[in-house]
Amino acid sequence: MNTSLQRVISIRQNQPNTYTQSRRQRNVSAKRKWLSIVASAITLATLAASVFVFFFFSWKAADSETTTNYPALELSKVVEGISQEPKELPYALEPASPAPHTGRLIIIDPGHQAQAMNQHAPIGPGATQTRPMVAAGTRGVSTGVAEYIVVLDIGLKLRDALIEEGYEVYMVRETHDVQISNKDRALRGNELGGDLMVRLHCDGSPNPNVHGFMTLIPANGGWTEPIYAKSRQAGEHVHREVLAAIGAYDRGIIERGDLSGFNWSTIPSILLEMGVMTNVREDELLSDPDYQDKIVQGIVNGLNAYFAEIAKGEN
Ligand SMILES: [Zn+2]
Repeated sequence: MNTSLQRVISIRQNQPNTYTQSRRQRNVSAKRKWLSIVASAITLATLAASVFVFFFFSWKAADSETTTNYPALELSKVVEGISQEPKELPYALEPASPAPHTGRLIIIDPGHQAQAMNQHAPIGPGATQTRPMVAAGTRGVSTGVAEYIVVLDIGLKLRDALIEEGYEVYMVRETHDVQISNKDRALRGNELGGDLMVRLHCDGSPNPNVHGFMTLIPANGGWTEPIYAKSRQAGEHVHREVLAAIGAYDRGIIERGDLSGFNWSTIPSILLEMGVMTNVREDELLSDPDYQDKIVQGIVNGLNAYFAEIAKGEN
């Protein structure tokens, strides 16, 4: 046999084997191809993700520069930041927790009404001493405006300010034409389970020189013993803050055991004599919208301080 024929035979003899080998080789090469495609895909995806992360944080950094006062962030710092605990981020914010006063229910009782209720009623549960169900109230010596009008003006402003601040508010009255005794006002607060009753009044005096701001709180004993401590606590905060806001003369914090509105109350209660309407200057101030706003702000500040203190005690 010549050598070329030998080679043909050899090839033919080896064919099955050669075929098997070449199929294996093809399989191996196909696997490599797929592996390389998968590897390329992973590489591309990683690259794309890196590019995205880079541009995203560059944009965030630029954005924070233009819209906030945060210092400009370098990408390296951001990457460093996100690889660590969130507290390491320079702009990490504590999760906002609601203020202690949020959701507290304030009962606002603007004193008096258009028509007095002069029938007498016991000043407390089982009392023999009586008082008119609702007195007429005083009147401005200069403006001629009735107390029940001024206290509702201020009460409506207080309602809005407290809602703005996150409180719940119930108004005993929002009009003048009502017939609600002082006892019934207290009972309404009890039924609603208010956190505090704020009674708004202005004072009058036979002496035209008498002026200033005064806070009344329930007496320490008798019917009001259970509500005394918190009423005093609330009264002290509100008294201090209103005086700071309006700069009026301080007529003090007075305990009263003879007021139906306190004696029928089972929730803490304070009564603000916001000014004296028989004094010319104070009468005019009490009808001044700016002065009214200051009184309201003082009350809000006092209530916020009171509920912050209450919350500390509850923890
Ligand atoms: Zn009054």
